Amino acid sequence: MYTIGLTGGISSGKSTVSAMLEQLGAAIIDTDIIARKIVEPGQPAWQEIVAAFGTSCLFPDGHINRKLLGEIIFTDDHKRRVLDKITHPHIQNTARQALQAAAQQGIKTAVLDAPLLIEVGWQHMVQAVWVVYVDEETQIERLMRRDRLDRSQALARIHSQMSLREKLLFATVVIDNSGNLEATQKQVFAAWQCLAANQ
Ligand code: ADP
Repeated sequence: MYTIGLTGGISSGKSTVSAMLEQLGAAIIDTDIIARKIVEPGQPAWQEIVAAFGTSCLFPDGHINRKLLGEIIFTDDHKRRVLDKITHPHIQNTARQALQAAAQQGIKTAVLDAPLLIEVGWQHMVQAVWVVYVDEETQIERLMRRDRLDRSQALARIHSQMSLREKLLFATVVIDNSGNLEATQKQVFAAWQCLAANQ
């Protein structure tokens, strides 16, 4: 099985490209979905988070208040590292199992959809790194519109991440999503055909 590591920056268009790849027949392993599942009540990561952050990070029904945790780690690097150290191994194990299951089902191409693929060093799990790029002004506009943020909030979120330009250095394939959806679709299709021709 050929595995693409799909990454990008916030609102660069990763979900958009992931949906296009799914349409083309790839199996999508979405690490954002996995990240939500591994912190459900009773899961090992849930227990470790409650031990580290206390019950004040829980809703009354026992679910983790991810928004509150997100706010805490946004302004506290030490706590961010503590949370990452708990969650990343669980996310990686679950993703690895999903990839193994896809391979056993005879899937030819899988996509590991991971916003932090490069930051956490998961390139070794994939055969190619596809980076969804967008110019910063378009990224700001799309983020403001999608998440109803003002410009300074959008900029704070973008600048808290590794820059997209830096991510390009790790790319096997770059999808430039600065244009319209049709232009992106064409690039995705061309890269997919290239891949299919070499399989
Ligand atoms: P990510 O998953 O990287 O955070 P999304 O795929 O959600 O980004 O895209 C961010 C926002 O921009 C979404 O509202 C999406 O509908 C919109 N968008 C994505 N690509 C394009 C495009 N080429 N043209 C116009 N809007 C786009």
